[in-house]
Amino acid sequence: MELLLEAEIKGFPFSFKKNLLAQASEKTGMSIEERIKYKINGNPFPRLKNMINAILRNGTMSDEIQRLKEDMIAAALRAYRIGLQTGNGGNLSGRLPGTDKIIIKGSGFSFGECTLDNFVMVNMKGAVLEGGGKPSRELLTHLAIYGMRPDIHGIFHTHSPWSIAYGEDASEIPLLTDHSRAKLGPIPVIRVEGHGTEAVARVVEALLQEQPELGAFVQVKHGIFGLGKNIIQAEHNAELVEETAQIALLVSLRRAALHGKDKNDL
Ligand SMILES: [Zn+2]
Repeated sequence: MELLLEAEIKGFPFSFKKNLLAQASEKTGMSIEERIKYKINGNPFPRLKNMINAILRNGTMSDEIQRLKEDMIAAALRAYRIGLQTGNGGNLSGRLPGTDKIIIKGSGFSFGECTLDNFVMVNMKGAVLEGGGKPSRELLTHLAIYGMRPDIHGIFHTHSPWSIAYGEDASEIPLLTDHSRAKLGPIPVIRVEGHGTEAVARVVEALLQEQPELGAFVQVKHGIFGLGKNIIQAEHNAELVEETAQIALLVSLRRAALHGKDKNDL
């Protein structure tokens, strides 16, 4: 355990890791956990503190990576099983707690084919740190979200039909259920063409600047982006958006049939 922790600390991409190790070595007679706690108490860098706390709580960084990937696989399989995403569309990512490292699904794999080897680790500039494949081609959109929202640790993106259908000519998906109002809040529809382009990233940044609390949004002709404090919550938010859009579209159709109203009267 002690050796593992030391090895992980040496791998941290922080210039002050040497200070951490030096301080640890001065404190002979203390366990590595005690040394790290000692360092944390005087550490002004919250990200390092969060990372070390995560290690002390749960084990090593490699354990953290494994755990995140397992959660991502579970979320992807659930979405595939319930038909939230078909074929090999959609993508998902997670931020390693306390770091700027993002794990994202590799390009070309379906949600039903996700394995521990089908993910790529990148930094916030999009450079690949680990993994042999190419990251999802919508990486830029994910990075734009993480850049604007330090609280977000999971993004789940699907090309789901009800949301795309409703969003075709709407500025938002109306919240017609108590559940969507309580759990999600506003679901705006952004009107920008393209998948994962710089233009999309800039529009997403502007949206999150204007509405910093969003749990999800829809891109016109494209699909849902569910945001969460972890990947499981992000997937649940994407599901709730699709359910909400389905209800909204059905209600609008019923009202149109009964009263001749269109869906903008909702
Ligand atoms: Zn997409």
